[in-house]
Amino acid sequence: MKVRLISYTPDPEMTVAIAARRCYSALGSEGVAEGFSREDAKKLINTILKAGHLSPTEHASFTFAIEGVSRSLSHQLVRHRIASYSQQSQRYVRESGFEYIVPPTIARSREALELFEKQIEEIREAYSKLVEIVPKEDARYILPNACETKLVMTMNCRSLYNFFERRLCNRAQWEIRGLAEEMLECVRQAAPGLFSWVGSTCEMRGYCPEGKMSCGKIKSITQ
Ligand SMILES: Cc1cc2nc3c(=O)[nH]c(=O)nc-3n(C[C@H](O)[C@H](O)[C@H](O)COP(=O)(O)OP(=O)(O)OC[C@H]3O[C@@H](n4cnc5c(N)ncnc54)[C@H](O)[C@@H]3O)c2cc1C
Repeated sequence: MKVRLISYTPDPEMTVAIAARRCYSALGSEGVAEGFSREDAKKLINTILKAGHLSPTEHASFTFAIEGVSRSLSHQLVRHRIASYSQQSQRYVRESGFEYIVPPTIARSREALELFEKQIEEIREAYSKLVEIVPKEDARYILPNACETKLVMTMNCRSLYNFFERRLCNRAQWEIRGLAEEMLECVRQAAPGLFSWVGSTCEMRGYCPEGKMSCGKIKSITQ
């Protein structure tokens, strides 16, 4: 998996802080930023995050280039609706000899891996034949969830909080959790004041939404 933060709102922390300050000031657009120090911005960000006044965080956006992930992951990813996506198309890009993602449980078992790779080879061959007979958009129906994909995704800070809460959870699948971890590392470097405190729901809110399916980690957090 390769994850790169390719661009983001310039000075995301100050942008969010000025948007927050807007709510509490009668000054014009220049006055509202005047004499507003980084320290003031940091304090105000902490105040709004604690209060759950999160709309100012929507003014900072982050764009990621993601590759080496499965179509299985991308299907889960695009369920996050408050985001923008551009994904490599299987209608326009020929997938002969496609790369694929092997889940660790399969990689660890010789029997499972043999079965998996044999099947992938057969699909590759069948796809290569099909694509000579029918359009790519129809030949792709035979491709597996394991198929590697690439995409560019933009999310604002508030949507990222929601994404991280859900996908850093131990109950999230290993691949999308791995993506969330990589993304968090990127945004923490770009805007530590906005992301240093971020984690899964149990880490951030002290409760587990998974009920009986809980991984049990919450006990160690609340004890
Ligand atoms: C561990 C785990 C297991 C999952 N299992 C399944 C599963 O079995 N089947 C399945 O279908 N999905 C499953 N999902 C996907 C999940 O239901 C969400 O679709 C996904 O996590 C996106 O979250 P979201 O809707 O909060 O994000 P976004 O779509 O980015 O929405 C962000 C927030 O905006 C608000 N919002 C957005 N759209 C609406 C709307 N139409 N109406 C009201 N409020 C809205 C909500 O507050 C939402 O939390 C699973 C997710 C996780 C993390």
